[in-house]
Amino acid sequence: MADTATVVLKKGKDRAVRRRHPWIFSGAIARTEGTPESGDTVVVKDPDGQILGRGAYSPSSQIRVRMWTFDEKTPVDDALMHARLEEAVGLRRRLVLSHDTNCARLVFAEGDFLPGLVCDLYADTLVVQCQSAGAERWRDVVVSHLQKLTNAARVYERSDAEVRKLEGLPQRAGLLAGAAIDGLVAVKENGVSFLVDVEKGHKTGFYLDQRDSRARVRSLSSGQRVLNCFSYTGGFAVAALVGGAREAFSVDTSMSALELAERNVAQNGVDESKHTALKGDVFDVLRGMKDDGEIFDVIILDPPKFAPSAAHVDKAARGYKDLALRALSILSPGGVLVNFSCSGAIDREMFLRITQMAAAESGRSVRLLGHLGHPPDHPVPTSFPEGEYLKGLVSLAS
Ligand code: SAH
Repeated sequence: MADTATVVLKKGKDRAVRRRHPWIFSGAIARTEGTPESGDTVVVKDPDGQILGRGAYSPSSQIRVRMWTFDEKTPVDDALMHARLEEAVGLRRRLVLSHDTNCARLVFAEGDFLPGLVCDLYADTLVVQCQSAGAERWRDVVVSHLQKLTNAARVYERSDAEVRKLEGLPQRAGLLAGAAIDGLVAVKENGVSFLVDVEKGHKTGFYLDQRDSRARVRSLSSGQRVLNCFSYTGGFAVAALVGGAREAFSVDTSMSALELAERNVAQNGVDESKHTALKGDVFDVLRGMKDDGEIFDVIILDPPKFAPSAAHVDKAARGYKDLALRALSILSPGGVLVNFSCSGAIDREMFLRITQMAAAESGRSVRLLGHLGHPPDHPVPTSFPEGEYLKGLVSLAS
């Protein structure tokens, strides 16, 4: 893979790269020397010809180059991929994987200096998702290294994320190596068991990014009546019940997610009568519960991304505020609201402001107990704040 092509940046547009921001937008490029194809490695230079590093070229994306390295001398080759992957896997072994936790995000794209590449481990099953032209190009090399680094029994590909369309890449999913998957994969997270649908589930099957938040909910739930909104496969409800919740409700529009939530409750030896799965739109369910005089002690709001881009921020903000307000209207005195936004376009400060507005409108005294966010298998480079998409708040309503 010769990196013969060169991308020369416009004057002043080299600053972000020098600060190690990994993305080069098409508008920052003065000219391209050579004819790089999708996924090819290009040398990136400033207007004076100084080499700033090397990245993967993506001709159809606005993000035209994603940097593999900011070091002038480092070639982009098999050895670089191996070094990055070895470091990434080592970090998870050190910080996340244990006797009680056998699932983790092994590679978090830009967070592990491997832009566009996501690899998740679910027990002995590795799931790979290539979200960029560069990740796509190095897929086979990555898979081969990861198999050796993890001894996984199989590798499954879930390169069926929407973002691939922006890269001009087709949707693709299927087994890449090892034995076929036999149904759901059983994993452990902090000693709690979950069944994961690697083939058809959201993302690569499970919201690994909520591990620490589930642990927090577990610690808040003893004796409490808990409402888990946007439950997906019941992660927070199971955590609450394992933490001693008196009762837990999971609300989602997806029947298949709710069925798996019920199996996940049963998996953990919790009295199944303590869990109720409710199919419905959370906005309507919350309103109905208010009309019925239902009261909860802990309410979790973990909706899908309301703002896929900056253009959707206002509408998304109204959605997040409305949800928090509705939840506050059925929260007991001393109850805890745990609300999240996974919209990259809404930063932590804005999410806090949205929640403050809901609190003010509710007429209740609300105190912030803490912030939630990515666990350590989702590292965020200081040079790449965009990587911090998940923000959560824990609030106490008097
Ligand atoms: N909290 C979950 C992840 C939530 S993902 C976990 O930790 O695993 C978001 C979920 O919201 C999806 O399962 C989706 O089916 C559901 N959903 C999206 N819009 C909804 C709505 N308006 N009402 C209810 N559920 C909704």
